[in-house]
Amino acid sequence: MRIVLVGPPGAGKGTQATRLAEKLRVPHISTGDLFRANISQKTELGKLAKSYMDAGNLVPDEVTIAMAKDRMEQPDAELGFLLDGFPRNVSQAEALDEVLTTEGIKLDAVLDLEAPEAEVVKRIAGRRICRNDSAHVFHVTYKQPAEAGVCDVCGGELYQRDDDSEDTVRTRLEVYHTQTEPIIDYYKAQGLVVTISAMGKVDEVTARAMGALQRDEDGK
Ligand SMILES: [Zn+2]
Repeated sequence: MRIVLVGPPGAGKGTQATRLAEKLRVPHISTGDLFRANISQKTELGKLAKSYMDAGNLVPDEVTIAMAKDRMEQPDAELGFLLDGFPRNVSQAEALDEVLTTEGIKLDAVLDLEAPEAEVVKRIAGRRICRNDSAHVFHVTYKQPAEAGVCDVCGGELYQRDDDSEDTVRTRLEVYHTQTEPIIDYYKAQGLVVTISAMGKVDEVTARAMGALQRDEDGK
């Protein structure tokens, strides 16, 4: 299956992408990984992307698209892939369509993870990270440490990353609404959108997503 995963920050998209890719036996292609891989392997595209990033600029869509195209042409992506973080705006979605058309392939579904704004703000703004190890993650509501402000694992101090502050979350949501949400309408016009709720436990959301993709497949 060839799938695009979309959803607002805080909807658990990255976690679901990893799990769904495993269940569907397709590579999980995320823009973050593409950038890291191209930069560490010093590919031409990686060097180009790095020059923009070093100058504090956004990497142009053409560069991101070229990286995604390279990745989708790898043998492990022949039978499918799950795109995460790409396309992130309508012009990238149009460029992706062009690439797919050239390759003679089509998307099977665009999985839209839905979560109420109040909930995603609560999820992200409540996150607290250990100063000693960023893998020690807590939450003021959902995963409270035994002692407030102290890591259960190592006793380190817990803090809120700047990225997780309520103001930053609201700004990221705004960017999502203005730039990424329009791609849902773009794909609705192609009859590709499958919407599910991203609320509840991680396992429940994965099961819901697999069920919805299966029903979508059967209905075609
Ligand atoms: Zn810790």
